[in-house]
Amino acid sequence: MENSTIAIVVPCFNEEEVLPQTNQQLRALLDGMMRDRLVGEGSYILYVDDGSRDRTWEIIAGYSEADALVRGLKLAGNVGHQNALMAGLDTARQDADVTVSIDADLQDDINAIPEMVKKYNEDCDIVYGVRRKRSTDTFFKRTTAQLFYRFMTSMGVKSVYNHADFRLMSRRAVDALCQYEERNLFLRGLVPLLGYKTDQVFYDRLERQAGESKYPLSKMLSFAIDGVTSFSVKPLRLIFDLGLIFLLISLGILVYVIVALCKGNGVQGWASLMLSIWFVGGCVLICLSIIAAYIGRIYTEGKHRPRYNIEKYVK
Ligand code: UDP
Ligand code: MG
Repeated sequence: MENSTIAIVVPCFNEEEVLPQTNQQLRALLDGMMRDRLVGEGSYILYVDDGSRDRTWEIIAGYSEADALVRGLKLAGNVGHQNALMAGLDTARQDADVTVSIDADLQDDINAIPEMVKKYNEDCDIVYGVRRKRSTDTFFKRTTAQLFYRFMTSMGVKSVYNHADFRLMSRRAVDALCQYEERNLFLRGLVPLLGYKTDQVFYDRLERQAGESKYPLSKMLSFAIDGVTSFSVKPLRLIFDLGLIFLLISLGILVYVIVALCKGNGVQGWASLMLSIWFVGGCVLICLSIIAAYIGRIYTEGKHRPRYNIEKYVK
């Protein structure tokens, strides 16, 4: 399997500040790998512009015009990191034997890529980039991310700890991935389901080289909800458990009310009654919202909408 064509897929959303650095480093790396004959001559970098509102696309188009190693794919609107990545992989699998997906901000150490390719040459279909430590992330980012992983595991979603979307995939792995037709994409949960031989490469997480995080807390939260509701039905079982507990509590309240009535001081029960009405009401609402999340999923999946529409593909 020597000398395979590799495509480095980079989703970009408003990344004008970091792109020059990213391109320079990725280019140099790819050039080096080609010189060392680690990858084939037709290898390239594919930037996917996820409906950026700044000059990201102009920059990408400029690079691809001047440079045979660079290609650009412009999506017709902002579809989010996961869908943009999928658009890139789907496009790259047409002529690349291997794809490596990496964020535009250079937080993932690009020097791990040659190591990934070596593992691929040793017959691995999927190689995960795994962070050794997270000391360069802010305290907030680090703890929320760890909470996120723990939450996912407790909800029964299989995912690789401390692995984001920095990974190598062989063409047949990407082909298999493209057969998952769901709209609520959570690639970190999907890829382990493919079943191909996997390995890991460890690296130190670096700082974002320029620009700001495109994942504010609100996006991270919806990402986590997507992750759980598209992979696990555990929340549905939790409703059942909660219902049982509530039955027990209401039994207790019933006993209390009867005892109070027998003693002739019924008015005292008013407070506990009001409290439990509100308490139960709140919990019912929470349960309903969990069910609503699943119904929402069924609703979007049932539509079978296309994940993205491509506006341009330049080589
Ligand atoms: N991104 C994207 N579409 C979006 C949001 C983000 O393509 O709607 C890209 C972004 O350009 C970057 C990657 O997803 O390449 C990861 O985003 P970021 O580095 O901001 O996330 P963080 O590392 O802070 O979690
Ligand atoms: Mg980042």
